[in-house]
Amino acid sequence: MGKRYFCDYCERSFQDNLHNRKKHLNGVQHIRARKAWYDRFRDAAAVLQEEQNKKPCRKFLQTGQCDFGPNCRFSHFSEADLQALEDRARAEERRAAGRPSEDTERSRPPGCLEDWLEKRAKRLRATESNRYRIAILGLPPGGSPKVEDTPPHRLQLVR
Ligand SMILES: [Zn+2]
Ligand SMILES: [Zn+2]
Repeated sequence: MGKRYFCDYCERSFQDNLHNRKKHLNGVQHIRARKAWYDRFRDAAAVLQEEQNKKPCRKFLQTGQCDFGPNCRFSHFSEADLQALEDRARAEERRAAGRPSEDTERSRPPGCLEDWLEKRAKRLRATESNRYRIAILGLPPGGSPKVEDTPPHRLQLVR
């Protein structure tokens, strides 16, 4: 069985390949679900408060996946995500008060949430591989061969 792609917007998963993704991401149902999700996200302060009241979802934060999706009663937000959300909430507040912040607008243009989520997923993966990289034994400082290039016996998993 191949990898599964879980769409948080639609709360459903499918076999992960280019064809399926394209088909799904262009589907009416997905676009509708995504819009609803964005609408919900527009009120970042409310989301922030909600997420802060939840306990972290260990499964999601460790694996990047959780079968419950947005319906999970635990939070899928890492510390950094909450921080980002807080920034967003502040920016919204400023905008509501009629004092838009240049900096915030530049670093977080509207509609960048998808990018942000992608980056988050990448970061989760990067955290995994960094853990390996740190554990490569006997590396000179600055030398950072790819983990894949390192013979397995030089890898030691640190937990
Ligand atoms: Zn979808
Ligand atoms: Zn979860």
